[in-house]
Amino acid sequence: MHVAIVGGGGTGAAILHDLTQRGFRCTLLERGELTSGTTGRHHGQLHSGARYAVGDVEIARECMEEVTILRRIAAESIEMNYGLFIALDDDDVDYSPEFERACSDAGIPNRRLSTSDALRHEPGINPRTRHAVMVPDGTIDAYRLPLQFFATARSGGATIRTFCEAIGIDSANGRVSGVTVRDHRTGRDERIAADIVINAAGPWAGAVAALAGVDLPITPAPGTMVAVKGRLCNMVVSHLHPPGDGDIIVPQRNLSIVGSTQWEVDDPDAIRTPPDDIHRLLDRACDLVPAFADAEYHAAWTAARPLSGRADAGGRQLSRNFQVITHAGEGSDDVAGFFSVTGGKATVLRAMGEAVADQVCRYAGLSIAGRTADTPLLAHRDFWRQTGRVGEPVA
Ligand SMILES: Cc1cc2nc3c(=O)[nH]c(=O)nc-3n(C[C@H](O)[C@H](O)[C@H](O)COP(=O)(O)OP(=O)(O)OC[C@H]3O[C@@H](n4cnc5c(N)ncnc54)[C@H](O)[C@@H]3O)c2cc1C
Repeated sequence: MHVAIVGGGGTGAAILHDLTQRGFRCTLLERGELTSGTTGRHHGQLHSGARYAVGDVEIARECMEEVTILRRIAAESIEMNYGLFIALDDDDVDYSPEFERACSDAGIPNRRLSTSDALRHEPGINPRTRHAVMVPDGTIDAYRLPLQFFATARSGGATIRTFCEAIGIDSANGRVSGVTVRDHRTGRDERIAADIVINAAGPWAGAVAALAGVDLPITPAPGTMVAVKGRLCNMVVSHLHPPGDGDIIVPQRNLSIVGSTQWEVDDPDAIRTPPDDIHRLLDRACDLVPAFADAEYHAAWTAARPLSGRADAGGRQLSRNFQVITHAGEGSDDVAGFFSVTGGKATVLRAMGEAVADQVCRYAGLSIAGRTADTPLLAHRDFWRQTGRVGEPVA
């Protein structure tokens, strides 16, 4: 059985790995370079789930479980530097017990620190900090983590085709039959036959579903991040309050990155970084880590979340959870064998791959258990060793 996966971000990488490991013949199609969508431009936080614990204990629990798994299977892409949620005013102090209780309910280890202990662990934080809560957040390498999945999938026989854009999802008698792709290196169009097609196109998933004539509820929700030079803190520093704009600082290599903001767009290809976001984020960052005030500006960029559902109620109301949609029901626009995945986070990419693969097995009438949680991934460098030469296009 041949499976075509559209989208070479972290989600596509994890699906490719899982299905290949379960014995499917898989081809991944990516219109640009691997991770050239949202995956290559996110904040880089390995979420313990603490940020979501008060709002959604299940998402929080899933994050924590995936942190434990990723530390086991992909340690080289993770810096386990831990996270501090800092309380700066009375409201934050009042919110803290609910936050700590919710973390405990979700199975997230958490420890309250006095001001002096917090400053001892993380000298970069605002000395006005009233108290802090330490959780097992960390930093992920946005590029290396998916590359580990790609390398492992390819060593298992998967095919990866970059610069190949899906321009049509083909079907016959209500069943998917393949993908028409445009190879941007040759300029030629080609039809790839497939028994199953998976739409893992992130914020572009709505456009890819439309190629199959399917209406997919998804909201591309961009957010801005700003990096300054220097590692101004070693832990992930977050504001101890309900999730909002500019309340997380992630140390990443020798940079400190503050993020993010959120709004909604129709077209993820037409996003500009709003200049106001940059000033607002830098102001917020100074509250958490005062050295931001004098730090040298490095860069600002924007990427779009592929949020599940439509943002009639405003983007922050939309769940951060992921959904696997089987377009094989009774609807007039349904196409058997066509699946979409929306929402989620880089932290839970493996779980997303597993959930999609479970649905595919169910559709195919196969009972094959996933094993990705217990399979250490190859090193990201193996991806380049497989092609023989660094920079060589992946055929
Ligand atoms: C501002 C911001 C900050 C974030 N911070 C974090 C964080 O700190 N930690 C965390 O865990 N998560 C974070 N996330 C979430 C995370 O980045 C995303 O959930 C994840 O990267 C989505 O991956 P994906 O593979 O689903 O989508 P993408 O990475 O966008 O992959 C989809 C791919 O599909 C390709 N594609 C589109 N159309 C076609 C086509 N027609 N044919 C072929 N290919 C196509 C695109 O080129 C793209 O490469 C953040 C998101 C945002 C926006």
